[in-house]
Amino acid sequence: MKRLAVLSGLLLAGAISLVIAKQQPATLEIQKVKDNLYVITGGGGNTAAFITQKGVVVVDTKLPNNGPGILEKIKSVTPKPVIMVINTHTHGDHVGSNQAFTGAVEFVAHENCKVSMEKMDAFKTEEGKKFLPGKTYKDKLSLLGGADKIDLYYFGRGHTGGDTFVVFPALKVMHSGDLFPTKGTPIMDTSNGGSGVEYPKTCYRTA
Ligand SMILES: [Zn+2]
Repeated sequence: MKRLAVLSGLLLAGAISLVIAKQQPATLEIQKVKDNLYVITGGGGNTAAFITQKGVVVVDTKLPNNGPGILEKIKSVTPKPVIMVINTHTHGDHVGSNQAFTGAVEFVAHENCKVSMEKMDAFKTEEGKKFLPGKTYKDKLSLLGGADKIDLYYFGRGHTGGDTFVVFPALKVMHSGDLFPTKGTPIMDTSNGGSGVEYPKTCYRTA
């Protein structure tokens, strides 16, 4: 019994330290992908910073409390303000720091992603609701224009039921969110609409 208690205590301590670790701002790094497109790593999912004529478009906002770090990294490469945040899907390591992007910032995501985000505690409060996607789409959405054009595609269920592929056509670069996070086994979040049956079909549609 005593041994069991110790084990439980250790497990609990482990769980708490994991939660605390997630809440701490992470050490972030920024590097150029191509021309006016940067990737900011650390603290959750990879964040893209696309510097357009009008301002900076951010793709995904990492775990909570990483907003100031993301903004600091962006400031190291441009004085332009953030004008738009695109969330590739609902997970906390991709939408967790939306709240840091205040002011005239437009939030964009797939319509199913918004439905999932509305179920998250962080977006249930009156304050939190301001950081939900104000613009959504069903199949495809083009944003901005010319060399700054961004195309959002929804090809079906996979990692979740509302994953967006973010394409920067002028650069021939795509941010795939967690639909293609590594070369390992895909993760499917069925509680948010993910599907193993649809996953290969969704990826095939990108071809
Ligand atoms: Zn995810």
